Amino acid sequence: MGQWQGLVKSQRSLRGHLAEVSIQFKLGTPRRLGCIATNLAAETRVIPRVHFWGRSAETVSRRPPTLPRAMNNLLLIAGFFLSAVVAVPATGQVRYTVEPVQTNSLIHLRVEMAFSAEANSETRLALPEDRFGVGEMHRWIRNLEAEGGADLTRIEGGRYRVRHRPNNEVRLSYEIAYDPGEAGFLAFGPSVGPDHFHFFGSQWMARLESQQGRREVEVQFRMKDGSGALGSSFGIGPGPHLVRASDYDFDYSVIAGGRYRTAQGRCHGRPVETMIQGDFEIPDSTVFSLVRKIVCGQRELFEDFDRPFFTVFVTERDRLQAGAPVLHGFTAFMDAATDEAELRRLLAHEMIHTWFPRTARLVEPERPDAPETRTRWFHEGFTEYLSRMTLVGQGLETRAWMAERTNEDLERLAYHPHATATLDELEEAVREGRYTNSHHRLHYRRGALLGLCWDQQIRDWSGGKHTLLDPLREVVREARASGGVIGLDRFGQILSQYGVDALGDVRRHLEERVPITVDAEALGADYHLGSRRLPSFEPGFDVAATLWNGAVTGLQENGPAARAGLREGMKIVNLENATPWIGTDIVSPRIGRWDPDEVTVVVVEADGRRHRFAFSARGPVREIPMFRPSSE
Ligand SMILES: [Zn+2]
Repeated sequence: MGQWQGLVKSQRSLRGHLAEVSIQFKLGTPRRLGCIATNLAAETRVIPRVHFWGRSAETVSRRPPTLPRAMNNLLLIAGFFLSAVVAVPATGQVRYTVEPVQTNSLIHLRVEMAFSAEANSETRLALPEDRFGVGEMHRWIRNLEAEGGADLTRIEGGRYRVRHRPNNEVRLSYEIAYDPGEAGFLAFGPSVGPDHFHFFGSQWMARLESQQGRREVEVQFRMKDGSGALGSSFGIGPGPHLVRASDYDFDYSVIAGGRYRTAQGRCHGRPVETMIQGDFEIPDSTVFSLVRKIVCGQRELFEDFDRPFFTVFVTERDRLQAGAPVLHGFTAFMDAATDEAELRRLLAHEMIHTWFPRTARLVEPERPDAPETRTRWFHEGFTEYLSRMTLVGQGLETRAWMAERTNEDLERLAYHPHATATLDELEEAVREGRYTNSHHRLHYRRGALLGLCWDQQIRDWSGGKHTLLDPLREVVREARASGGVIGLDRFGQILSQYGVDALGDVRRHLEERVPITVDAEALGADYHLGSRRLPSFEPGFDVAATLWNGAVTGLQENGPAARAGLREGMKIVNLENATPWIGTDIVSPRIGRWDPDEVTVVVVEADGRRHRFAFSARGPVREIPMFRPSSE
């Protein structure tokens, strides 16, 4: 019961801008939330405002790390930091120096910021505004001070006017004193403890309001002896690192340090650094080796070797398995009890996001203002399929596992209340603020099945010579040459050169409500597509709309719910055994499974009292597609 309470509340709280993730953590077991790209969007209905993925960035001036030869192999270096300190002239427009400061209970960050003042003797400064869910980040910032005769006046919130002598260097400093205990759970909030920290760029970087678009900054870390490890998206070591990137890239960057265990390896001669913080059941050596296999292996598959360095952060966070692609790497949060299969899946998924959408974002050029949900079937669904495909390709998962994942997609989709929702309808749900996690997960299911179908079509068409990766490598190449985006039409052209009618499939399945059907041979000759007989879910009211409205909606006359006594508009307190479309991969098994042999329970509140209604939602049996090994 308690679990359901959480879900109902969270769905209703969407209207109050309260993130579903912030409620979900109260529920029972670890859940896979996917990535930030997805979750903030899905659960806080800020999609039009939040830009998930930045354009590619270049490191302007990079010190090649001078690592001992032994470091070419994977090394485990606990509490030890490999530095490659070479002085770089301060030529960045803004120079940041970050120093972790140990307080009694938590690590604070002291940030010094220096920039050349503008001629007009007044500069606008914006303290960090977080894109990952921390409201009014500036509330956690203390001791903002200006040096050298500059004068600070607060305009409002975290915005300041800095008065200074014209054409002078201005120096500011501030301290970030984030306290997760006081802030409460935020899936992607800063991770701060007595001996470690992890911040996204938008959680620590103040910026000049005059700087729009791509900008150049210099970042340097000041680490005291014994302050532990350090990792960042700006370079290997404490810097200074001069980086030119977009606002989004800076927002989607990470700095982390303290009690992280680090390992450094190489892919094609370029450093890959892994940082782990937390007390995981999986041994560090397994995490390090999986990161290396997945990061290097996927790069081989995408033939992408020119990233200067790559940093992967793995940080403990209760009851969460989620991540985000960041500048030159990705970051993952996971529960201490995460098992190896879940870790593989998380790492592979986040790594694929390095390309889709971070390097190649699919857009509809004729709809420049459309929310990203229109192409999320690709960004999330194909990422999901490609992560499965590459895990199997690398021998890290079996084909039987792939078949299970596919069967799960088929089954959940068969029960999904929005299974055939069109892209226009989903866009409308975003614009009207009724886009929920259920809408969101649809993209993973439908996209993964489309990915599977196209992969198989390409293999058939080319007589086994090509796979889905071949056109997608071309997509990445073209997008790189055009600022990180690729138009849907061009995407379709590339796929059509491999025998796939991508645009036709998108139109049919995502715009014209034709259900996605998979080919009997989609998993290869050793699997065949059969079906299983499962009861349909017929509770006699619209569960998805009811969750959204917080009141019984769409009640059918004489349906099971009505016969049990439910009435339209009754205020919902609790639901149990009522969402067969939610997968076991994202929520606790108890919520995820609709057990047709158990009653569905609805608890409502009326006249200050609670009333419980229980009834069977079991409908007529129907055939649901399912792959089985041909040998069976
Ligand atoms: Zn994702």
